Amino acid sequence: MSDLSSWVAYLGEIGVTDLRITREAGVLAAAPAPPPATTTLESIRADIGDCRRCRLCEKRTNIVFGVGNPRARLMFVGEGPGADEDLKGEPFVGRAGKKLDEMIQSIGLTRDQVYIANVVKCRPPDNRTPEPDEIATCSPYLFRQIEAIAPDVIVALGAPAAKTLLGTKTGITQLRGNWGRFRGIPVMPTFHPAYLLRAYTVENRRLVYEDLKAARARMTSTDA
Ligand code: URA
Repeated sequence: MSDLSSWVAYLGEIGVTDLRITREAGVLAAAPAPPPATTTLESIRADIGDCRRCRLCEKRTNIVFGVGNPRARLMFVGEGPGADEDLKGEPFVGRAGKKLDEMIQSIGLTRDQVYIANVVKCRPPDNRTPEPDEIATCSPYLFRQIEAIAPDVIVALGAPAAKTLLGTKTGITQLRGNWGRFRGIPVMPTFHPAYLLRAYTVENRRLVYEDLKAARARMTSTDA
C-alpha cells in the first residue's frame, strides 16, 4: 500500500470523513469530521416520512407525531391515536384529549407547556391496542422524541405507554403511582384518561391527581 492510501485508511479509522485537496497548498488537507447531528423533533419527523414500516399505515389518515413545547419539562405519553387524532393529525384531541387537558390544568399547567406524544403514531384499526411488533417498530421514534425534548419527568398514560417505557409486563394497576425510569428520566405511570372516563369514580380521579401532583413536583421549572 502506498503511503497515501495507508494515510487515507488511517484517517478513516479515526473518523475523518471528508478530505479536501487544496490547490494552494498542493497537499491533501484533512477536514474534521462534522459534529454529530443534533436530533431535533423536525429531523425525527423527517425520518418518519410517509411511514410504511408497519401495517398501521394501511388504514391511517394522518401520522400523529406529537404536539406541545419542544423544551417541555413534563411530557405525556399515550398509547396511539384514535379516530379524532387520526383525522386531525394531533394527539389527544377527542374526548380523552379533553380529559387530559383537564388533568394538565389540575396541576396548574396548560397544554402548550407540556409535550404530548404516543407510543404508536398511526391509529390502530377500531382503536385496538397496538401489537408488540407495531410498538417495536414505532417506539424508537418516541424514544428519540424523548431524547430531543429531555423532559424532567414523563407521565405514562395507561398500560402500553407504561410497559413500553419501563420495559415491563406488569399491569397498570400495579405500576401506577410508583416511579420508574426511562433512560434515567423519572416516569410516573397513571391511568389513561379514556379509562378514567369509563371508570369515573372518585377514587380513580383521586389516584390520577396524586400521580400528576407527584410528577409536577419533579419538574425543575414550569417554563420551557
Ligand atoms: N388515546 C391515546 O392514547 N392517544 C391519543 O392521542 C388519543 C387517545
